[in-house]
Amino acid sequence: MKCPRCQGSLEELSLGDVSTVACPHCGFADVPVDHIREEDEPESWRDAFNRFYEDTTPREDATEH
Ligand SMILES: [Zn+2]
Repeated sequence: MKCPRCQGSLEELSLGDVSTVACPHCGFADVPVDHIREEDEPESWRDAFNRFYEDTTPREDATEH
């Protein structure tokens, strides 16, 4: 299954008795059912991803240049 936005491979996420897919590359999330809080899952996933990305990205230190 591929992301319609960036054509990357999607990851399947299980949320209780339903499953959905999300793209780790661009943050796309497909939520096929209504009763899932649409903002909650994509935001927390993206939030975690952003935190991970920031942690592994070295900060530019102006004094080093
Ligand atoms: Zn994508």
